[in-house]
This record gives sequence, C-alpha cells and structure tokens, in this order.
Amino acid sequence: MSAEQVRAGLRRSEFVPFFQPVVTLHTGEVAGMEVLARWQHASRGVLPPEAFIRIAEQAGLIGELTAMLMEKSFNAASMLPNTQWLAFNVSPYLLHDLALPKQIREAANAAAFPLNRVVIEITESALLEDLQHAQTISAELKALGCRLALDDFGTGYSSLLHLQSLPFDELKVDRSFVSSMAERRQSRKIVSAVVGLGQSLGLTTVAEGVETEEQAEMLLLLGCEMGQGWLFGKPVPAERLSEAITMHPPV
Ligand code: C2E
Ligand code: CA
Ligand code: CA
Ligand code: CA
Repeated sequence: MSAEQVRAGLRRSEFVPFFQPVVTLHTGEVAGMEVLARWQHASRGVLPPEAFIRIAEQAGLIGELTAMLMEKSFNAASMLPNTQWLAFNVSPYLLHDLALPKQIREAANAAAFPLNRVVIEITESALLEDLQHAQTISAELKALGCRLALDDFGTGYSSLLHLQSLPFDELKVDRSFVSSMAERRQSRKIVSAVVGLGQSLGLTTVAEGVETEEQAEMLLLLGCEMGQGWLFGKPVPAERLSEAITMHPPV
C-alpha cells in the first residue's frame, strides 16, 4: 500500500472502526469498547491496521484517518449503554499535534457523546520524542474529561519514564505476556508485577489478548481488573455492535 492509495481510501471514506469489548473480569460486564481501524478496501476486502497505519503516519495522514474513525465511532456509539466508554488508539505523532484535543472535542460534541466516556490509548513504542508537547496535550485531554491509557505496557524501552511523566489512568498489559502466562512462570510473574505496579499507582489494569478461561482466571487471581480478547469477543463492525455490548459470564 502506498501513501497515494491511503489518500484515495480517505477520499472514499473506506476506513472504518471495528469494536472489541473490554470486560470487567469479576462481573463479566462490558466496561467499554476499543476501536480498531480497518480498511474496507474496494477490491481487496477488509485490511488490518498493519497494512496502512505506518504509511498513514509517514504520509502525515494519520490525523485525518483518526478523525474519520472517531466520527464514525461516535455516531455508532449512540446505541451503547451509557456506562460504556470508547477507547481510541492515538498515534504518538498526534500527541505532538496541538489540534488533537480540539478535534476530539468537536467530534464527540457533534455526536453528543460525553467526553468522560472517551479513553485515549497511547502506544509507548516510538513514543514521545517531545515529552513536553505530549504533556501539554495530555493535560488538555484530561481537562476535557478524557482518560489516558498506556498501551502495550512492557514492550517499549522507557515505559516507566512515560508512566512517571504523563497522567495515565489505565495500563494495558501487552498480549505477549498474557498469551504465555499459562505455560511460563516467568510471564506470570511479569504480569503479576505489572498489575501490582498499576495498583500501587492507582491505575486500572487491562490485560490484552485474553483467549482462554484459564488466562482469565489467572488474571483475576493476580488482581487484574479488566480483560480484552477473543474469549470475550473479537472486533466487530458497527453493524454488529449490539452483539458486543452484552454481558459475559463472570470468570
Ligand atoms: P493494539 O492497540 O494492541 O490492539 C490489540 C490488537 O490485538 C488488535 O489487533 C486486536 O484485534 C488484537 N487482539 C485482540 N484480542 C486478541 C486475542 O485474544 N488474540 C489475539 N491473537 N489478538 C487479539 P489489530 O486490530 O490488528 O490492531 C493492531 C494494532 O494496530 C493495534 O494494536 C494498534 O496498535 C494499531 N491500531 C489499530 N487501530 C488503530 C488506529 O485507529 N490508530 C492507530 N494509530 N493505531 C491503530
Ligand atoms: Ca490499543
Ligand atoms: Ca495494545
Ligand atoms: Ca499491540
């Protein structure tokens, strides 16, 4: 895929949100949805983010793409119970863009979606060359009522620095630790330590990539509050959002 193709996809409005439930482990209730980008390509079918996010970032198109996803997501979200939030993946590039808070506010307001039900997920890889800018923008997002999540925790090299420097509310434990947890004592200890760190900092911990009951039970025992993964539901398009909002049996 080329920048030109992504540009054409944007013109044709082919980027769509898929929604994946995030579940409170001890009740089985859906706490919110993560929005995951897909490209509904005219001839190639549905393409995953790996096929276009990096290109969009490099071509300076990620802001436009994110805005499109937000607009479509907020419109679809009118059918969500008013306890459920929407989480968006925001490229670190956009955390340097002073227009971001205003863009989020306008998109949410246009669909009458409350900003205190918006979570912004920031991936730490390649994060924040310009920490000061990121701090300014994070503070503005918090002032709007949004919550901030540190995504893929444990996979970057300076995660603790970011945890210390930015006002995060939520910590997402990377799937790589969760998926090997049942087999590897080492992974289990890492997850346990990350959950403990999150708790002591007063953060909500969310485990990614929960695929089995065994993993979910283990996470609950370790004190992890929320889980997300195929066990609870795969990402679905807006047309199937109603299937994703219902309760899951408690672990
Ligand atoms: P992520 O934010 O870590 O999202 C979780 C990824 O794990 C998603 O892949 C999701 O479909 C997948 N996943 C969820 N549960 C399971 C499970 O139980 N097992 C397995 N094997 N996988 C699971 P996806 O949708 O392909 O997204 C990949 C990455 O692309 C995301 O990782 C995120 O970093 C990025 N991305 C997605 N949408 C956007 C977006 O709108 N903007 C930006 N900047 N990045 C995005
Ligand atoms: Ca994410
Ligand atoms: Ca993640
Ligand atoms: Ca990831």
